[in-house]
Amino acid sequence: MSHDALNIEGVKQEPALLKKHAKFFVRFLNLLPARLASHDSTRGTIAFFAVCGLDVLNSLPLLTKEMQKDVIEWIYGGLVTSNPEKQPNCSGFQGSRCVNIISDDEQLQANAKNYQWGHLAMTYTGIGILATLGDDLSRIDRKSIVDGVAAVQRPDGSFSACVDGSENDMRFVFCAAAICHMLDYWGNVDKEKMFEFITSCIRYDNGFSQYLEGEAHGGTTFCALAALELSGQLHRLDVATIENIKRWLIFRQVNGFQGRPNKAVDTCYSFWIGAALRILGAFELIDYEENRAYIMETQDSIVGGFSKWPQSTTDPFHTYFGLCGLSFMNEPGLSAVMPSLNISMRAYNRLKQLHAQWQVESTDDRFVSNNKSASSKLNSDENSTSVTSPLIEAQ
Ligand SMILES: [Zn+2]
Repeated sequence: MSHDALNIEGVKQEPALLKKHAKFFVRFLNLLPARLASHDSTRGTIAFFAVCGLDVLNSLPLLTKEMQKDVIEWIYGGLVTSNPEKQPNCSGFQGSRCVNIISDDEQLQANAKNYQWGHLAMTYTGIGILATLGDDLSRIDRKSIVDGVAAVQRPDGSFSACVDGSENDMRFVFCAAAICHMLDYWGNVDKEKMFEFITSCIRYDNGFSQYLEGEAHGGTTFCALAALELSGQLHRLDVATIENIKRWLIFRQVNGFQGRPNKAVDTCYSFWIGAALRILGAFELIDYEENRAYIMETQDSIVGGFSKWPQSTTDPFHTYFGLCGLSFMNEPGLSAVMPSLNISMRAYNRLKQLHAQWQVESTDDRFVSNNKSASSKLNSDENSTSVTSPLIEAQ
């Protein structure tokens, strides 16, 4: 089929300008305008949307091998590994490098370390980028990272973003589940408490809220369902509850999707709601034609990218999620997207190969030594992702 025009049931559709979107992402990896300086602490997410967006566009070769290596090194430059005595439980990736001080002054270096800690969203997006670019994650201490995740779990089962404290809500529950799933290790993360928190956030109208007694929201509902799937607990919801959630999700379609009742339609919800419906196996119940037509209304045909609303400024976030929304409807030229991890199926399959390799290595360790080594414990059945998420195989 031609990439220039898509024909659904005889209706001529606007073409998706895939090459322009790829160039749009490359620009964000090369140079950020000064007005984005305030986003420095979350710069890792901009890189995530650009790299993963290029992957979904099958356009990673637009980045030279050298540049891909540079991106990998930049990501690792934000890795913090905890020191059990001085800075415990702070492992993970930072979004910004502004507190990585290069100096011969040891005191200054030591002081700067007090301000370095991993952030769950940056750790999730950092690992996502590394997997997408084909890194083998061998420089990551999986146990140390997951110890950091468990350390920010709150008594109610939710998670904060970092060890220094932050808001705790469903966004970071998702990030925690995604990190543990990608690293195939759950350590001391309390999945039962996680389940209790997630289900306590089901609201009277059957969507999920960020925290207890908040308002149901499309992005949050994705986070909740994805976390349940990634932690192998989606099957614990009963049939009636799942049907009610599907209904709430399907009713978010106007032409594109809105995040909450009576709110404006926005391109990114074609991913948040679309992925949630994919997780529940109900995506085919939406109107594809209306959804695609709305997303295409937000395409910038001159500089590339998608925006949240028609005639608005495009950005990497809405461009990535617009493309994912199109991918769910099998848009020609786009890769398949793994709904609950929000990376390409290609990157997810690479992760699964790493999981299998880690399992073999831990088995070898057990042959070499009867001692329970850290790595053999790391891949014991109760901790592993691969044995707890059979539903994912069905997607
Ligand atoms: Zn949006």
